[in-house]
Amino acid sequence: MARINGAACKLCRREKEKLFLKGLRCFSDKCGVVKKPYVPGQKAKMRLVESEYYTQLREKQKAKRYYGVMEAQFLNYYKKATRKQGITGEILLQLLETRLDNVLYLMGFATSRSQSKQLISHGHVKVNGKKVDVPSFQVKEGQVVEIADESKDIPSIIEAKESAGSLSIPEWLEVDFKNFKGKIIRIPERADIKAPVKEQMIVELYSK
Ligand code: SF4
Repeated sequence: MARINGAACKLCRREKEKLFLKGLRCFSDKCGVVKKPYVPGQKAKMRLVESEYYTQLREKQKAKRYYGVMEAQFLNYYKKATRKQGITGEILLQLLETRLDNVLYLMGFATSRSQSKQLISHGHVKVNGKKVDVPSFQVKEGQVVEIADESKDIPSIIEAKESAGSLSIPEWLEVDFKNFKGKIIRIPERADIKAPVKEQMIVELYSK
């Protein structure tokens, strides 16, 4: 399973944004962005002018880190987005947002996207009744995502479920916590996607 390297909180501080990489800690006052609201490292402190290229690059890095996607895979998403009809940046975000690991996290069955990836690759998740162990699996409208019966007592899933009461489930998803399942009601529109990313800048970067 691909991993984003680097201490999670440093990645957020680098982007000057909460990317929610550490589960429940992200919602507490222990959050690195709250405790140290400045970019780590001397060089960053000394940077006075941020070029257009640098700003676009940071948006791409932010999106990659937010969704936990590596460079080559991210580029593939971009290429796929350019082949579809519509606004490339929005389609790019739709593709990332509808990854199974992201959906499981948004449904509240994992406290972070990385935990969600782990649950899926360990075979704890089903889509339309069939086990799917690929975190990048692309969900479709009408599909049902559920925790496998034999995995419903896993402590991390129970913990996520118990803390999910404070979450607001996106309107494009429907969740049945009692039965450990959720449904994709529709594909998300841009307004549904909370990723703190200016996708047009990513398109401009790749278009150079
Ligand atoms: Fe980012 Fe979460 Fe760390 Fe805050 S606690 S800096 S949101 S990973």
